[in-house]
Amino acid sequence: TAGRAASPRVLASICCYCGTGCGVKIETDGDRVLKVSGDEQHPSSLGKLCSKGLALGATVRGDSSRVLSAQWRSGRGEPRHDIAMDQACDIAAARLAQAIAAHGPDAIGFYLSGQLLTEDYAVFNKLARALVGTNNIDTNSRLCMSSAVSGYKLTLGADAPPACYDDLDHADTVLIAGSNMAYAHPVLFRRLEAAKARKPGMKIIVVDPRRTDTCDIADLHLAIAPGSDVALFHAMLNVMVWDGLVDLDYIARHTEGYAPLKERIHEFTPQSVQEICGVPAADIIQCARWFGAAGSALSLYTMGLNQSSSGTAKNAALIHLHLATGQIGKKGAGPFSLTGQPNAMGGREAGGMATLLPGHRDPGNARHRAEIASLWKVDSLPETPGHTAIDMFDAVLAGKIKVLWIAATNPAQSMPDQARVRAALEAAEFVIVQEAYANTETLAYADLVLPAATWPEKDGTVTNSERRISRVRAAIRPPGDALPDWQLACRVARGLARRIAPAKSGLFDYRGVSEIFAEHARSTAGRDLDYSALDYATLEADGPQQWPYKASTREPLRLYADGVFPTASGRARFLDVGYVPVAEPVSAHYPLRLSTGRLRDQWHTMSRSGLVPALTRHAEEPFVYLHPGDIQRYKIGDGALVRIKTRRGQIVLPAMGDDSLKPGHAWLPMHWGSGFIAGDGVNALANSARDPISHQPELKHSAAAIEVLKYE
Ligand code: SF4
Repeated sequence: TAGRAASPRVLASICCYCGTGCGVKIETDGDRVLKVSGDEQHPSSLGKLCSKGLALGATVRGDSSRVLSAQWRSGRGEPRHDIAMDQACDIAAARLAQAIAAHGPDAIGFYLSGQLLTEDYAVFNKLARALVGTNNIDTNSRLCMSSAVSGYKLTLGADAPPACYDDLDHADTVLIAGSNMAYAHPVLFRRLEAAKARKPGMKIIVVDPRRTDTCDIADLHLAIAPGSDVALFHAMLNVMVWDGLVDLDYIARHTEGYAPLKERIHEFTPQSVQEICGVPAADIIQCARWFGAAGSALSLYTMGLNQSSSGTAKNAALIHLHLATGQIGKKGAGPFSLTGQPNAMGGREAGGMATLLPGHRDPGNARHRAEIASLWKVDSLPETPGHTAIDMFDAVLAGKIKVLWIAATNPAQSMPDQARVRAALEAAEFVIVQEAYANTETLAYADLVLPAATWPEKDGTVTNSERRISRVRAAIRPPGDALPDWQLACRVARGLARRIAPAKSGLFDYRGVSEIFAEHARSTAGRDLDYSALDYATLEADGPQQWPYKASTREPLRLYADGVFPTASGRARFLDVGYVPVAEPVSAHYPLRLSTGRLRDQWHTMSRSGLVPALTRHAEEPFVYLHPGDIQRYKIGDGALVRIKTRRGQIVLPAMGDDSLKPGHAWLPMHWGSGFIAGDGVNALANSARDPISHQPELKHSAAAIEVLKYE
């Protein structure tokens, strides 16, 4: 059972896919996983699993699907060959030390993953900042939720989602924006579906350019034009002001910045934005009235808001609706960003991003740096801002970063503008790839491969979307020479310390994950997320726990219930944000609005989920989906091959008609890299234009052209 002493053969752990963080029970004979099922005791999922979670057992294969040994090549163009782990860690340490000696600490970059456990993040972060001396540490979470982080911090004062899954059962109106939760967070979607069945009066609004399966439970679907969310939310606020649905008392007592925003939204009437948004004014008015009149209004949102060159503004504009109506800090209400990856939240808490330090601290704040330096028992931490994900690869191309260490992620496939990313991987002097799966395209660029353990071979913790920390448990041994990510980082770190700072060798002498967690938890003391009183013994005895965690109270705290926010004034902030169109508007040469998204049964670049035939059957090959009218207009035969082009790349694949799209729109599943008839993968097309605050790229929109391939 979750978090309690488990029998020798059944261990409680967490599904390693999405940020819902469902509890799983792993039945094992010590060598093999016999069965994976839902954990009824886990408070976040109550025994439920989706198709991906149920198929987890079939992903556990110690065969050729895995990286089983360290590999090294003596030079570019040379073949890689297996080497012993000691030698591999020594080579890594030596190359890092050489680059630091020749070019300084900022010649090193770490690119991590929301798949890593909190303990992995904590060790990598200490290695980068306390030993190497660089803030060049970022993660694929930058592609996923960094706009949500910026939105929360700028409006509410802290990166703390102020809602939990129970709120799905209690909301009167649910606004789902930029999220196909039926596919991306299926267990939460089913919970919402059940809540609506129990409460026929519940209103569900879906804001999405596509009519996804999530719309099956919607009372109203606003098929807005990509990128027009800020205009929509401002217009909704405008309606609420006119209709007297805003809570002026809450605004006066608990917020600041309302007056300039109210001034700005004058021009955002439903009638004036209906052309920008591509939805009728009457629907915007209806949406605003349901939200404004609700006893409790909950918003659920993900990539449609976040993966945008104006992602922070979109997040803020949605949060404004909650602040203006007092729909926050109470049951069934609040702006609730659902995280994509299993431990995107834990990575934020551990500060494993260029723009963060542990405990939701800021690397640009001298006091925060001193606090973490003291915790880690080093004199100081670096001050120079680090490169965020896209910038990090640009810095490699510019010759500033020489050695790149990539762990548990596949940037050669997952990052936008792939040609540029692949050029950076070629240009780096030395690339370390720490990876569990042998099928990732990034491995082709590795000078040194470190074999990593993965689910269900690792111990540690993750934090899910509702701020709940759960134990992840190792049920079997990793295959071959593979080791947990934190152990690989520690082994290299000790070798590096011997070379560049012998006094720091002891910084990485952890005896196990509970020690790492204890050090990490201390970094949260006195912060908004404070779980300094939490330890592994409590997680074992009492099961998963939400933060902020106080040992004296077992009930999770309702954030902002008192209307006090962790800002300098104690008030939440309205931001005077305007509407900015997508970075790459359509044109005569690129007339299609291209977006990408998830399939129900696949995960990211399919390194794990692609191993399971039962999951692959849902969609065995990629298609580009177009409106049936466009299929006719371009004279595309059923399933005929087309070339999709953007300013960055092109791919060849079959086209299919899909009336869930509007005319002029195209949609591609994001999972495929190679596997197309020609071209580098979906993200060869995607745009790397980024939000100026969160630095999150606009993966959700590119202007594209289509060419129908003819056969002689
Ligand atoms: Fe795993 Fe997410 Fe499915 Fe739950 S909803 S079983 S966490 S993929």
